[in-house]
Amino acid sequence: MRLPWLTVCLLILVAGCLRQPQADAPASPTPRNPDALDGARAMQLVSNLVALGPRSSGSDGAERAAAFIANELRASGIRVDIDAFQDETPAETLTFRNILGTIPGDPHRWIVLLSHYDTKVGIATNFVGANDSGSSSGLLLALAAVLSPPIAGTPTILLGFLDGEECRHAYAAKDGLHGSIRLASKLTDDGIAPHVRAVILLDMVGDRDLTITIPRNTTPELVVAAFAAAKAAGIRDRFSLFSGSMLDDHVPFLQRGMPAIDLIDFQFGSAPGRNDYWHTPHDTLDKLSSDSLQHMGRVVIHMVNGMATH
Ligand SMILES: [Zn+2]
Repeated sequence: MRLPWLTVCLLILVAGCLRQPQADAPASPTPRNPDALDGARAMQLVSNLVALGPRSSGSDGAERAAAFIANELRASGIRVDIDAFQDETPAETLTFRNILGTIPGDPHRWIVLLSHYDTKVGIATNFVGANDSGSSSGLLLALAAVLSPPIAGTPTILLGFLDGEECRHAYAAKDGLHGSIRLASKLTDDGIAPHVRAVILLDMVGDRDLTITIPRNTTPELVVAAFAAAKAAGIRDRFSLFSGSMLDDHVPFLQRGMPAIDLIDFQFGSAPGRNDYWHTPHDTLDKLSSDSLQHMGRVVIHMVNGMATH
């Protein structure tokens, strides 16, 4: 069969056009699927963690929680480092453990996802902190499973489960934020801090009546990113700015020059606007919902996807 000369030229042109994107443009990394985050699975992980008992820093319960978290991360195929260190508190010197999971990616772009896992002492002998800090820790473990397959060309993801967020008396130089101060310092010493694009802290994210109240001491670009992610996840109406600043685990990273955001629900209470379950024996599993965990997990995946290529 003979083709007319013009047809042959057109075919060559079309073939050239089709090949062009493959030859010149790098393929965009595949985004992680937000719908893969299963709220029921996250709730199960919260429940399993809470069942280990109170997790105040230096206690047997904290050690059991650290082992549980490390095992769950390893089961997701994630490399785990346990950073055990001693630090002074107003009462005594304690051993703290940060559990760090790394999902490899571009070494020059890092996303740090954080939750503290310790519970506050002095609330009640059996205080297990279902929302503070069970919810964020269980959700971060569920997120780890979804995020764990490395995707070439996307940022390295560091999952940090921090010990010692809670203070004994009042936040001070050696009272509270022990784990976050330690990790922020380590990232600085290791030369990673300049490569950190975002520190995303989750705290009290399981309340049935989800009301995320982002404190003012948060990097503005990350507030924009969080609002966009919340919109994509269908819960933009659940996100607002808090009236003031908060001293939480994101602060040591801000102080070291890293962009950071605190996704916290500081209206955890018996009625809208109240926070009367916080740091009380009412902080129990029945106050949480798998839907809230699922929504928040999807917001985080949208944020991670939004930072995948730039
Ligand atoms: Zn607390």
